[in-house]
Amino acid sequence: MYDVKSNLKQVLANLPEGVRLVAISKYHPNEYIEAAYAEGQRIFGESHEQELRGKHATLPKDIEWHFIGHLQTNKVKYIAPYVTMIEAVDSLKLLKEIDRQAAKNERVIDVLLELHIAEEETKYGLTPDALRSLLADGEWRELKHVRICGLMMMASYVDDEQQIRSEFQIAHSLFDEVKAGWFADCDYFCERSWGMSHDYLLAVEEGSTMVRIGTTIFGPRVY
Ligand SMILES: *Cc1c(COP(=O)(O)O)cnc(C)c1O
Repeated sequence: MYDVKSNLKQVLANLPEGVRLVAISKYHPNEYIEAAYAEGQRIFGESHEQELRGKHATLPKDIEWHFIGHLQTNKVKYIAPYVTMIEAVDSLKLLKEIDRQAAKNERVIDVLLELHIAEEETKYGLTPDALRSLLADGEWRELKHVRICGLMMMASYVDDEQQIRSEFQIAHSLFDEVKAGWFADCDYFCERSWGMSHDYLLAVEEGSTMVRIGTTIFGPRVY
């Protein structure tokens, strides 16, 4: 096994106070998660519903699971009973389904809205204008079983530090805009989820409150 224990310690030593670590355990077996858990790590992130289902069923119940991948609306019902946070909400349709399933489970589920800023062509995430119009539309205000806690994004996967940094800066200024415009009185709207293995130090410099790190802790994923 990769030296999970010492990798985790190293990552945590690099995080300033107030920045939380989501250990991304997708494609890694339970043993890896247990090793991190034994070191005190409690927040783990997964991106596939079935894999998460199996891990949730077999691992300690005080783990806080973050769903970080693209979530199909027909899968929400499976994770709604226990998931702590759904990080990558990129449509009103998905938000409504999370609300519906959270209500059934008599819960309020924390979510982040996923921004699409990177130049790469991906299907997922809200462009800045789509984010603004989703919020301006106002329908989300009627959803009492979801709590929008902030924004999540992935920077372009490039070597150019300046580009990565500027994408984080765009995300940060959008966060400030959204906070001021729609969530000024909401203390819970405070999360800026950006930074992965290759760019988390930059992300922290650019105001991340939550980094999502897999490879640096657990080693390469075997697909
Ligand atoms: C897999 C994944 C990560 C972790 O990536 P690493 O490069 O292994 O740190 C972070 N965020 C999202 C959304 C992911 O899908």
